[in-house]
Amino acid sequence: MKLKHQICFYLFLLICWTSTVHAKLHVVASTPDLGALAREIGKDKVEITSLAKPTEDPHFVDAKPGFIVKLNKADMLIEGGLHLEIGWLPNLVIGARNQKILAGTPGYFIAAANIQVLEIPDVMPDRAREMGDVHPLGNPHFLLDPFNGKVVATNICNRLCKIDAANSAYYKNNLNDFVQRLDRKLSEWQKKLEPFKGAKIVTYHKTFSYLAHRFNLHVIGSLEPKPGIPPSPAHINNLIPMMKYEGVKIILTETFRERKTPEFVAAQTGAKVVIVPIMPGGVKGVEDFIAFFDYNIHQIVSALRG
Ligand SMILES: [Zn+2]
Repeated sequence: MKLKHQICFYLFLLICWTSTVHAKLHVVASTPDLGALAREIGKDKVEITSLAKPTEDPHFVDAKPGFIVKLNKADMLIEGGLHLEIGWLPNLVIGARNQKILAGTPGYFIAAANIQVLEIPDVMPDRAREMGDVHPLGNPHFLLDPFNGKVVATNICNRLCKIDAANSAYYKNNLNDFVQRLDRKLSEWQKKLEPFKGAKIVTYHKTFSYLAHRFNLHVIGSLEPKPGIPPSPAHINNLIPMMKYEGVKIILTETFRERKTPEFVAAQTGAKVVIVPIMPGGVKGVEDFIAFFDYNIHQIVSALRG
Protein backbone atom coordinates (compact mmCIF):
# COMPACT_ATOMS: atom_id res chain seq x y z
CA MET A 1 0.00 0.00 0.00
CA LYS A 2 2.85 2.28 0.93
CA LEU A 3 4.59 1.54 -2.38
CA LYS A 4 1.38 2.27 -4.27
CA HIS A 5 1.20 5.70 -2.61
CA GLN A 6 4.80 6.39 -3.49
CA ILE A 7 4.23 5.47 -7.15
CA CYS A 8 1.18 7.76 -7.25
CA PHE A 9 3.21 10.59 -5.73
CA TYR A 10 6.03 10.24 -8.30
CA LEU A 11 3.50 9.99 -11.13
CA PHE A 12 1.93 13.22 -9.87
CA LEU A 13 5.36 14.93 -9.84
CA LEU A 14 6.05 13.69 -13.38
CA ILE A 15 2.74 15.09 -14.65
CA CYS A 16 3.48 18.46 -13.00
CA TRP A 17 6.98 18.52 -14.51
CA THR A 18 5.87 17.64 -18.06
CA SER A 19 3.02 20.14 -17.98
CA THR A 20 5.45 22.88 -16.89
CA VAL A 21 8.03 21.97 -19.51
CA HIS A 22 5.56 21.72 -22.38
CA ALA A 23 3.15 24.46 -21.31
CA LYS A 24 2.58 27.08 -23.97
CA LEU A 25 3.35 30.70 -23.22
CA HIS A 26 0.22 32.79 -22.84
CA VAL A 27 0.55 35.98 -24.85
CA VAL A 28 -2.19 38.61 -24.71
CA ALA A 29 -2.21 41.27 -27.45
CA SER A 30 -4.39 44.35 -27.14
CA THR A 31 -5.31 44.25 -30.84
CA PRO A 32 -5.38 41.51 -33.52
CA ASP A 33 -2.57 43.04 -35.64
CA LEU A 34 -0.17 42.63 -32.69
CA GLY A 35 -1.61 39.16 -32.08
CA ALA A 36 -0.99 38.21 -35.74
CA LEU A 37 2.67 39.27 -35.45
CA ALA A 38 3.13 37.36 -32.18
CA ARG A 39 1.67 34.28 -33.89
CA GLU A 40 4.25 34.54 -36.71
CA ILE A 41 7.05 34.35 -34.13
CA GLY A 42 5.57 32.10 -31.45
CA LYS A 43 3.65 29.68 -33.70
CA ASP A 44 2.81 26.52 -31.74
CA LYS A 45 4.87 27.47 -28.67
CA VAL A 46 2.48 30.26 -27.71
CA GLU A 47 -1.22 30.68 -27.13
CA ILE A 48 -2.33 34.10 -28.37
CA THR A 49 -5.35 36.05 -27.22
CA SER A 50 -6.20 39.31 -28.95
CA LEU A 51 -8.53 41.39 -26.79
CA ALA A 52 -10.04 43.81 -29.33
CA LYS A 53 -12.03 42.37 -32.20
CA PRO A 54 -10.62 43.00 -35.68
CA THR A 55 -13.89 44.72 -36.57
CA GLU A 56 -13.78 47.14 -33.63
CA ASP A 57 -12.41 50.68 -33.41
CA PRO A 58 -9.20 50.05 -31.42
CA HIS A 59 -9.62 53.36 -29.57
CA PHE A 60 -13.00 52.30 -28.15
CA VAL A 61 -13.00 48.61 -27.33
CA ASP A 62 -15.83 46.91 -25.50
CA ALA A 63 -13.94 45.58 -22.45
CA LYS A 64 -15.37 42.24 -21.30
CA PRO A 65 -14.87 40.66 -17.82
CA GLY A 66 -13.15 37.68 -19.48
CA PHE A 67 -10.31 40.00 -20.50
CA ILE A 68 -9.17 40.24 -16.86
CA VAL A 69 -8.99 36.45 -16.61
CA LYS A 70 -6.87 36.29 -19.77
CA LEU A 71 -4.57 39.05 -18.48
CA ASN A 72 -4.29 37.32 -15.11
CA LYS A 73 -2.91 34.17 -16.79
CA ALA A 74 -0.69 35.99 -19.30
CA ASP A 75 3.09 35.51 -19.50
CA MET A 76 3.31 38.51 -21.82
CA LEU A 77 1.17 41.52 -22.73
CA ILE A 78 1.72 43.38 -25.99
CA GLU A 79 0.06 46.75 -26.45
CA GLY A 80 0.35 49.31 -29.23
CA GLY A 81 0.90 52.37 -27.05
CA LEU A 82 0.67 56.08 -27.95
CA HIS A 83 -2.60 56.17 -25.96
CA LEU A 84 -4.37 53.84 -28.42
CA GLU A 85 -5.66 51.65 -25.58
CA ILE A 86 -5.79 54.30 -22.84
CA GLY A 87 -9.59 54.29 -22.67
CA TRP A 88 -9.97 50.59 -21.95
CA LEU A 89 -6.77 48.64 -21.16
CA PRO A 90 -5.06 50.18 -18.06
CA ASN A 91 -7.89 49.34 -15.62
CA LEU A 92 -8.01 45.77 -16.91
CA VAL A 93 -4.27 45.36 -16.28
CA ILE A 94 -4.69 46.69 -12.71
CA GLY A 95 -7.63 44.32 -12.17
CA ALA A 96 -5.62 41.35 -13.45
CA ARG A 97 -3.03 41.63 -10.62
CA ASN A 98 -0.35 39.84 -12.63
CA GLN A 99 3.28 40.64 -11.73
CA LYS A 100 4.51 39.16 -15.03
CA ILE A 101 2.95 41.89 -17.18
CA LEU A 102 3.70 44.99 -15.14
CA ALA A 103 5.65 47.92 -16.62
CA GLY A 104 9.39 47.32 -16.52
CA THR A 105 9.15 43.53 -16.75
CA PRO A 106 10.13 41.56 -19.91
CA GLY A 107 6.48 40.44 -20.08
CA TYR A 108 5.18 43.94 -20.81
CA PHE A 109 5.90 45.24 -24.28
CA ILE A 110 4.78 48.49 -25.91
CA ALA A 111 5.07 48.08 -29.67
CA ALA A 112 5.35 51.83 -30.36
CA ALA A 113 8.65 52.02 -28.45
CA ASN A 114 10.80 51.44 -31.55
CA ILE A 115 8.63 53.15 -34.16
CA GLN A 116 9.20 56.42 -35.97
CA VAL A 117 5.98 58.15 -34.98
CA LEU A 118 4.08 60.36 -37.45
CA GLU A 119 1.83 63.35 -36.75
CA ILE A 120 2.99 64.31 -33.26
CA PRO A 121 0.75 67.27 -32.27
CA ASP A 122 2.45 70.62 -31.72
CA VAL A 123 0.63 71.08 -28.39
CA MET A 124 1.28 69.23 -25.12
CA PRO A 125 -0.39 65.77 -24.97
CA ASP A 126 -2.77 66.77 -22.12
CA ARG A 127 -3.89 69.85 -24.04
CA ALA A 128 -4.35 67.79 -27.26
CA ARG A 129 -6.47 65.25 -25.38
CA GLU A 130 -8.57 68.02 -23.77
CA MET A 131 -9.28 69.28 -27.28
CA GLY A 132 -10.69 65.83 -28.13
CA ASP A 133 -7.67 64.56 -30.09
CA VAL A 134 -7.35 60.79 -29.58
CA HIS A 135 -3.78 60.90 -30.99
CA PRO A 136 -2.18 63.18 -28.38
CA LEU A 137 1.23 61.44 -28.60
CA GLY A 138 1.19 61.08 -32.40
CA ASN A 139 -0.49 58.61 -34.73
CA PRO A 140 -0.83 55.15 -33.12
CA HIS A 141 -1.87 53.29 -36.32
CA PHE A 142 1.72 52.45 -37.28
CA LEU A 143 1.01 48.81 -38.12
CA LEU A 144 -0.76 49.98 -41.28
CA ASP A 145 2.78 50.30 -42.65
CA PRO A 146 3.97 46.73 -43.30
CA PHE A 147 7.59 47.79 -42.72
CA ASN A 148 6.68 48.56 -39.11
CA GLY A 149 5.37 44.99 -38.86
CA LYS A 150 8.95 43.88 -39.32
CA VAL A 151 10.17 46.20 -36.53
CA VAL A 152 7.48 45.04 -34.11
CA ALA A 153 7.96 41.34 -34.98
CA THR A 154 11.70 41.68 -34.27
CA ASN A 155 10.99 43.20 -30.86
CA ILE A 156 8.38 40.58 -30.01
CA CYS A 157 10.98 37.93 -30.92
CA ASN A 158 13.54 39.55 -28.57
CA ARG A 159 11.04 39.52 -25.71
CA LEU A 160 9.95 35.92 -26.31
CA CYS A 161 13.62 34.89 -26.33
CA LYS A 162 14.07 36.56 -22.92
CA ILE A 163 10.95 35.04 -21.36
CA ASP A 164 11.43 31.60 -22.89
CA ALA A 165 15.18 31.29 -23.60
CA ALA A 166 14.94 27.52 -24.18
CA ASN A 167 13.02 28.15 -27.41
CA SER A 168 14.94 31.20 -28.64
CA ALA A 169 16.39 29.42 -31.72
CA TYR A 170 12.84 28.49 -32.72
CA TYR A 171 11.58 32.08 -32.34
CA LYS A 172 14.55 33.52 -34.26
CA ASN A 173 14.03 31.05 -37.08
CA ASN A 174 10.36 32.03 -37.34
CA LEU A 175 11.32 35.71 -37.37
CA ASN A 176 13.79 35.17 -40.22
CA ASP A 177 11.19 33.31 -42.23
CA PHE A 178 8.59 36.05 -41.63
CA VAL A 179 11.00 38.88 -42.51
CA GLN A 180 11.98 37.15 -45.76
CA ARG A 181 8.35 36.65 -46.79
CA LEU A 182 7.43 40.21 -45.80
CA ASP A 183 10.40 41.73 -47.68
CA ARG A 184 9.42 39.90 -50.85
CA LYS A 185 5.85 41.15 -50.48
CA LEU A 186 6.94 44.70 -49.68
CA SER A 187 8.64 45.06 -53.05
CA GLU A 188 5.63 43.46 -54.78
CA TRP A 189 3.27 45.98 -53.10
CA GLN A 190 5.61 48.90 -53.92
CA LYS A 191 5.52 47.87 -57.61
CA LYS A 192 1.72 47.64 -57.61
CA LEU A 193 1.34 51.14 -56.18
CA GLU A 194 4.21 52.71 -58.12
CA PRO A 195 1.94 53.92 -61.01
CA PHE A 196 -0.16 55.87 -58.46
CA LYS A 197 2.71 57.69 -56.78
CA GLY A 198 1.46 60.99 -55.34
CA ALA A 199 -2.24 60.10 -55.84
CA LYS A 200 -4.37 62.27 -53.58
CA ILE A 201 -6.65 60.54 -51.12
CA VAL A 202 -8.94 61.41 -48.21
CA THR A 203 -9.40 59.17 -45.18
CA TYR A 204 -12.19 59.05 -42.61
CA HIS A 205 -9.93 58.92 -39.53
CA LYS A 206 -6.13 59.27 -39.63
CA THR A 207 -5.85 55.49 -39.71
CA PHE A 208 -4.04 55.23 -43.03
CA SER A 209 -1.27 57.84 -42.66
CA TYR A 210 1.52 55.26 -42.30
CA LEU A 211 0.20 53.21 -45.23
CA ALA A 212 0.08 56.36 -47.38
CA HIS A 213 3.57 57.37 -46.24
CA ARG A 214 5.07 53.98 -47.13
CA PHE A 215 3.45 53.80 -50.60
CA ASN A 216 3.69 57.49 -51.58
CA LEU A 217 0.01 58.32 -51.50
CA HIS A 218 -0.86 61.86 -50.49
CA VAL A 219 -3.52 62.26 -47.78
CA ILE A 220 -4.93 65.74 -48.32
CA GLY A 221 -7.56 65.60 -45.58
CA SER A 222 -9.82 63.56 -43.32
CA LEU A 223 -13.58 63.47 -42.83
CA GLU A 224 -12.93 63.91 -39.12
CA PRO A 225 -11.73 67.45 -38.38
CA LYS A 226 -9.42 65.97 -35.70
CA PRO A 227 -8.78 62.31 -34.81
CA GLY A 228 -11.75 61.25 -32.68
CA ILE A 229 -13.97 64.28 -33.48
CA PRO A 230 -16.91 63.26 -35.72
CA PRO A 231 -17.28 64.94 -39.13
CA SER A 232 -19.12 68.29 -38.84
CA PRO A 233 -21.12 70.04 -41.62
CA ALA A 234 -18.72 73.03 -41.54
CA HIS A 235 -15.66 70.79 -41.97
CA ILE A 236 -17.27 68.74 -44.76
CA ASN A 237 -18.32 71.94 -46.57
CA ASN A 238 -14.69 73.07 -46.59
CA LEU A 239 -13.38 69.65 -47.58
CA ILE A 240 -15.62 69.10 -50.64
CA PRO A 241 -14.33 72.01 -52.80
CA MET A 242 -10.75 71.18 -51.80
CA MET A 243 -11.22 67.55 -52.87
CA LYS A 244 -12.65 68.67 -56.22
CA TYR A 245 -9.77 71.09 -56.77
CA GLU A 246 -7.14 68.47 -55.86
CA GLY A 247 -8.80 65.71 -57.91
CA VAL A 248 -9.13 63.22 -55.01
CA LYS A 249 -9.96 59.77 -56.35
CA ILE A 250 -10.65 57.76 -53.21
CA ILE A 251 -12.00 58.09 -49.69
CA LEU A 252 -10.48 55.36 -47.52
CA THR A 253 -12.60 54.27 -44.58
CA GLU A 254 -12.67 51.44 -42.06
CA THR A 255 -15.22 48.62 -42.01
CA PHE A 256 -16.66 49.75 -38.64
CA ARG A 257 -17.43 53.40 -39.59
CA GLU A 258 -20.80 54.87 -40.54
CA ARG A 259 -21.18 55.04 -44.33
CA LYS A 260 -23.44 58.09 -44.75
CA THR A 261 -20.76 60.79 -44.58
CA PRO A 262 -18.23 59.18 -46.95
CA GLU A 263 -21.03 58.34 -49.41
CA PHE A 264 -22.33 61.92 -49.30
CA VAL A 265 -18.85 63.35 -49.89
CA ALA A 266 -18.22 60.81 -52.67
CA ALA A 267 -21.45 61.81 -54.42
CA GLN A 268 -20.44 65.48 -54.25
CA THR A 269 -16.87 65.00 -55.47
CA GLY A 270 -16.85 61.95 -57.76
CA ALA A 271 -14.41 60.14 -55.46
CA LYS A 272 -14.89 56.45 -54.68
CA VAL A 273 -15.44 55.10 -51.18
CA VAL A 274 -13.02 52.25 -50.42
CA ILE A 275 -13.92 50.30 -47.28
CA VAL A 276 -11.08 48.22 -45.86
CA PRO A 277 -10.34 46.33 -42.64
CA ILE A 278 -7.63 47.81 -40.41
CA MET A 279 -6.62 44.56 -38.71
CA PRO A 280 -5.94 40.99 -39.87
CA GLY A 281 -9.24 39.11 -39.47
CA GLY A 282 -11.31 42.24 -40.21
CA VAL A 283 -12.56 40.47 -43.33
CA LYS A 284 -13.30 36.75 -43.29
CA GLY A 285 -10.47 34.65 -44.70
CA VAL A 286 -7.91 37.46 -44.43
CA GLU A 287 -6.41 36.35 -41.16
CA ASP A 288 -2.63 36.82 -41.22
CA PHE A 289 -0.50 39.96 -41.42
CA ILE A 290 0.67 39.49 -45.03
CA ALA A 291 -2.73 38.36 -46.38
CA PHE A 292 -4.24 41.47 -44.78
CA PHE A 293 -1.94 43.78 -46.77
CA ASP A 294 -2.44 41.73 -49.94
CA TYR A 295 -6.18 42.30 -49.56
CA ASN A 296 -6.02 46.01 -48.71
CA ILE A 297 -3.50 46.90 -51.41
CA HIS A 298 -5.58 45.04 -53.99
CA GLN A 299 -8.66 47.07 -52.94
CA ILE A 300 -6.79 50.38 -53.12
CA VAL A 301 -5.08 49.65 -56.46
CA SER A 302 -8.37 48.50 -58.03
CA ALA A 303 -10.10 51.73 -56.93
CA LEU A 304 -7.23 53.96 -58.10
CA ARG A 305 -7.19 52.23 -61.47
CA GLY A 306 -10.83 53.22 -61.79
ZN1 LIG B 1 -6.79 56.74 -34.29
